[in-house]
Amino acid sequence: MKPLARAACVVALLAPLVSEASGATASPAVAAAREARTWRQSHERDILHEFVALLAIPNVARDRPGIERNVTALTAMLERRGLDVRVLRLDDAPPIVVADLRARGRARTIAFYAHYDGQPTDTLSWNGLPWTPVLRDAAGHEQPLDGARALDPESRLFARSSGDDKAPILALLAALDAMRAAKRAPVFNLRLVFEGEEEAGSPHLSTYMERYPDVLRPDAWLICDGPVHQSGRPLLGFGARGTTSVDLTVYGPVKGLHDGHYGNWVPNPISRLAHLLASLRDDAGRVTLPGYLDEVVPPSEAERKALAAIPDVETSLRGEFQIGGVEGAGEALNETLLRPAINIRGFQSGSVGAHATNTIPTEARASIDFRLVPAQTPASVRAHLERHLRTLGWTLVDAAPDSATRVTHDRLVRLAWGAGYPPARTSLDAPFSLEVAAVLGTLGRDPVRTPTLGGSVPMYLFQQAPRGTPAIILPIANHDDNQHAPNENLRLQNLWDGIETFAALFAALRP
Ligand SMILES: [Zn+2]
Repeated sequence: MKPLARAACVVALLAPLVSEASGATASPAVAAAREARTWRQSHERDILHEFVALLAIPNVARDRPGIERNVTALTAMLERRGLDVRVLRLDDAPPIVVADLRARGRARTIAFYAHYDGQPTDTLSWNGLPWTPVLRDAAGHEQPLDGARALDPESRLFARSSGDDKAPILALLAALDAMRAAKRAPVFNLRLVFEGEEEAGSPHLSTYMERYPDVLRPDAWLICDGPVHQSGRPLLGFGARGTTSVDLTVYGPVKGLHDGHYGNWVPNPISRLAHLLASLRDDAGRVTLPGYLDEVVPPSEAERKALAAIPDVETSLRGEFQIGGVEGAGEALNETLLRPAINIRGFQSGSVGAHATNTIPTEARASIDFRLVPAQTPASVRAHLERHLRTLGWTLVDAAPDSATRVTHDRLVRLAWGAGYPPARTSLDAPFSLEVAAVLGTLGRDPVRTPTLGGSVPMYLFQQAPRGTPAIILPIANHDDNQHAPNENLRLQNLWDGIETFAALFAALRP
């Protein structure tokens, strides 16, 4: 066990709850979290009103007037608090709002990232309207936003982006307010970075980082996005898998043929594509694509330990998903996510049921998505698959083949590669990783540490400039916040916890 981690455990044992820690001996993190709680308890309605005002502004990335209204509102919220605000612009991409609170002397710059845009909505599926925030208690009854009564922490605020991802914006600002009321200030340079097109796939983030290197190259990143662990414990995510995808089309005869007349002589594209796909992963889910696993960096000792400490969710998930068996040869879910995946996400050809015909079809298509781990890249995956297919006797084309090509090549497959990006991982042993985990540990809410998310976010962008910048995902929203779906919501206690977490980090992260 590393000294810092041991220290965190000791403090956690001595002060299992912020409220129980003694004022005289409390660490800066515990003291700041307790001050934030006290401040929040007397300002809950104010926080709620500011949150509701921000949530009422439509925020889909392609809705430029809505995006600009968000930028204006955010700028005002940040300037009101005395932060130095810059609005970064790039052609007509949604702006990135950056705000700084500088420390005295030479200090690290630690950036807290969130995004103010949200997923497009299917308004008819909402119980209410996406940009008309509504507070409901745990039983679903609407609650007044005004009033003298204390707010029920189990009540939820329903609106697009209440969880994903305006909650951290409000929590960060409330944490600053609480700190200021207690006459504290961060000793590092605090930078807030709010992106406006994350839900559209961050198509300009990389260009923004090239255009504004002085602003978007801090010493460390905390990416405040996504939900906490399903167990309700805080979550620190140290990586994300990369991704790439390919669509394959295998060609048969140029017209559908009677399978009685030609069935043992004309090759069937469905059957051939099925064999091709079966050569990539075996019946137990083990990858058999040659070379695909060669570049995989084995998990570190720290990653193995973190995995072992993740609460068991497998049994309940099996019930929830109603699956009789799993892949992974007995590994826990999070362990399997450390490996790259080949997922066959679609297969199309011919017809079934009442529409089935006795025909050899003209083509069969499949779509595959790959989840990459260090040190794979989209280019290396492409090279492995294409080499493998050539070895199996396939001729690769990138457009529909003409007659001459069809007649002279027996096994023709068309490949259409999608865009992709590499994986990213921050070491759990990195000083910044230990520092952040230790601060959360002192609050008595020991975080679940996942070496990587199974899904893909372009975390490599945060790490690459300069290369190796630590980037850690620190979400605050409830896991059942319906993010991206109708009736997105934020449980108020998650917002309150987030304020304390950010206040503790502001107070305890070193210069
Ligand atoms: Zn998000």
